[in-house]
Amino acid sequence: MVSMEALRQTVQRDEEKILAQLRELVEVESPSEDKAAVDRAGALVTHWVHQMGGRVITHAQQQFGDVLEVRFGPDEGPRTLLLGHLDTVWPMGTLAVMPWREEDGKIFGPGVLDMKVGVAMALTGISAAQEHGANAAVTLLLNSDEEVGSPISRPITEKLALASTVVYVLEPAQGLAYKTARKGVGHFDVHIQGVAAHAGVDFEKGHSAVLEMAKLIQKVSSWTEVSRGLTVNAGVISGGTRSNVIAADCRAEVDVRVVAMADAAEIEANFRALQTTDPHCKLTVTGGINRPPMERGPGTVALFEKAKGLATKLGFMLEEASTGGGSDGNFTAALGVPTLDGMGAVGAGAHAAHEHIVRACLVERTTMLAGMLAKV
Ligand SMILES: [Zn+2]
Repeated sequence: MVSMEALRQTVQRDEEKILAQLRELVEVESPSEDKAAVDRAGALVTHWVHQMGGRVITHAQQQFGDVLEVRFGPDEGPRTLLLGHLDTVWPMGTLAVMPWREEDGKIFGPGVLDMKVGVAMALTGISAAQEHGANAAVTLLLNSDEEVGSPISRPITEKLALASTVVYVLEPAQGLAYKTARKGVGHFDVHIQGVAAHAGVDFEKGHSAVLEMAKLIQKVSSWTEVSRGLTVNAGVISGGTRSNVIAADCRAEVDVRVVAMADAAEIEANFRALQTTDPHCKLTVTGGINRPPMERGPGTVALFEKAKGLATKLGFMLEEASTGGGSDGNFTAALGVPTLDGMGAVGAGAHAAHEHIVRACLVERTTMLAGMLAKV
């Protein structure tokens, strides 16, 4: 048994190390689209892991950066899975205009909050727990494609989640809160093919794809029920060529968010059942729910209660929150594996120019990670 205070002191001692690693990691830019760049960030982390005595299994990828499965502790026994990602939304060269910078207790830089800090925190959280006698079996999965929807890492995440008893997600906190629920995220592409005609000479021969799309957007938008957290947003439309031509073509991209698994199935069925009112217009719908909702299940609530207890020992009140954004925690929670999210840093501005972490919270939040891995 170890006290939270003892863990806090160990993490405090290592604060400069966390910051030094974080800076190195931020200064190796790693946009999702650039395999070589993400692999450079992965090589850096691999080096640190080997120094700690951990093992790295590399899941080699062609299109994206390699996915790293980092393992600590025994191979047998109940495992804890920590989820992180090495990729960022920031293109190469961002560092030149958005360099590592500390000001008024905030640290700025591309990917600093989402989520390079989560990676550095995890390493020190694990080493602090180990130092205090915890020999827990921990897997830290670092993927390379989270910011583009985790297309290649999803099966790896799911497989490892099913071999674990709990999942901790290193995404940023929601304000000061851990995340116990996330909406599911869907994306649909709607295409309508009409029949072109001269709008003056042959009006009755035309069948407008734009008009059909206008009706269809009304229909799908009417499925929104804000009170139950279900939203449908046709965010992009394009179609037609000139005002005097009846449009032969129209496309729309629709974002869908759902709170409950049942709503995901319902909304997918609704999209599949869509029809045009004009039989001469041909409708094609592709896409679906990409991330299932992370529902606030009893396993997640139990993890949160444990975390709340540890926070009390550190002298602060931990809150929980839900969010409309998705993470890899959506996949693991949907498999029924208790998942707690938002266990990374406190900060603001993910994906925005003012992205930063709050330095004053770093030791406390890393101690929380250590506490969840140690026997306290
Ligand atoms: Zn992230």
